[in-house]
Amino acid sequence: MSEPIISVKALEKYYGNFQALKNIDLTIANGEIVVILGPSGSGKSTLIRCLNGLEEHQKGEIKVAGIPLDNHQENLHRIRKMAGMVFQHFNLFPHLTIIENLTLAPEIVHGVKSSKARELALSLLERVKIGEQADKYPAQLSGGQKQRVAIARALCNEPKIMLFDEPTSALDPEMVGEVLEVMKDLAKQGMTMVCVTHEMDFARQVANRIVFMDEGEIVEMNDPASFFDNPKEERTRQFLGLLRRT
Ligand code: ADP
Repeated sequence: MSEPIISVKALEKYYGNFQALKNIDLTIANGEIVVILGPSGSGKSTLIRCLNGLEEHQKGEIKVAGIPLDNHQENLHRIRKMAGMVFQHFNLFPHLTIIENLTLAPEIVHGVKSSKARELALSLLERVKIGEQADKYPAQLSGGQKQRVAIARALCNEPKIMLFDEPTSALDPEMVGEVLEVMKDLAKQGMTMVCVTHEMDFARQVANRIVFMDEGEIVEMNDPASFFDNPKEERTRQFLGLLRRT
């Protein structure tokens, strides 16, 4: 098997004295779609944020495309460029147009020529089916449209991996579908994806693997059919049982 694109070994993460992640081992193959599930406070967001160094870990090892996530700034920059991230809240600059939100980092941080940055940004806005909104401001867009802009912005760095931290949780229900559709398209195009989400239909249909966490640990990992229809662990059964009752 080729080297995994993400490799996590014996990862431990503390916030002060509180241990948020306990002995996490996880390898993710190129092109794999992994959905992380678990109750609130189980460490899902912390884990995904550790993968691109948004949270520091105290013990263990993380490698992304073979690059160790360590104290070397150069490594951190390379990993951040390779792993795009989309958050629950879109974090768009309100005073910039949609296209300016997309071209800012490529131009300022990566020195891409303005015309080239604009061309790439427009093609990405088309890809998330929002090309006609390029010259509007974020306040003029719906939540679903803003989240699609945030996805396009993350794609500007031409990442190999996309990390999604509850990308649909802040959206009105009628806008969830359009964001999930964009995520499904990315999955079809072969993007490696790690998604924290509560969208169980998406998890079942799109994931190659479900990682179930509770109290800072990975309790169970399996393909979606086995995970949902034949969970092995009591904690998983409880979690799924609670979901079915809501
Ligand atoms: P999840 O994404 O599964 O809801 P989180 O990763 O956000 O869980 O949180 C895991 C645990 O770590 C929770 O108990 C949470 O209160 C705690 N935690 C998260 N962020 C911080 C922080 N910045 N400082 C202190 N504790 C935190």
